[in-house]
Amino acid sequence: MARGIFRDLLGQKFGRLTVQARGLSRKGATWDCVCVCGKTLNVTAKHLVQGSVRSCGCLRADMNRTKYDNPATREKHAAGLQRMWERRHARMTAANKKAARLKKLEPKPPRDSRPAATGKFSAKAAADLAKAWK
Ligand SMILES: [Zn+2]
Repeated sequence: MARGIFRDLLGQKFGRLTVQARGLSRKGATWDCVCVCGKTLNVTAKHLVQGSVRSCGCLRADMNRTKYDNPATREKHAAGLQRMWERRHARMTAANKKAARLKKLEPKPPRDSRPAATGKFSAKAAADLAKAWK
């Protein structure tokens, strides 16, 4: 491959990474980078240019950590869970109360008053229909 096909990324910064040297990989253009946390890693030029790799992996870990290390965030999170639970509890209580009320107001019809589900016409029903069609 001709030289110059690869962008010279030496010294450039991508997120937390600073390109230190051309990588040793024979697979393609890679660069040895050093992260702000001190770790070194080898990244393909493509990933650097596309911005898909911007740290040694500590970026995401840091973001998660700062998110949950922050007492305000933690409190907010806890409060959110509490509210969610309370809402659910209230909903369930209301539903239970309504169900109990309905049960009291509308007792189920006794078994024998329900229409028989035989799937067959009774002789009388057949006769009624025959009359109606005349
Ligand atoms: Zn790092």
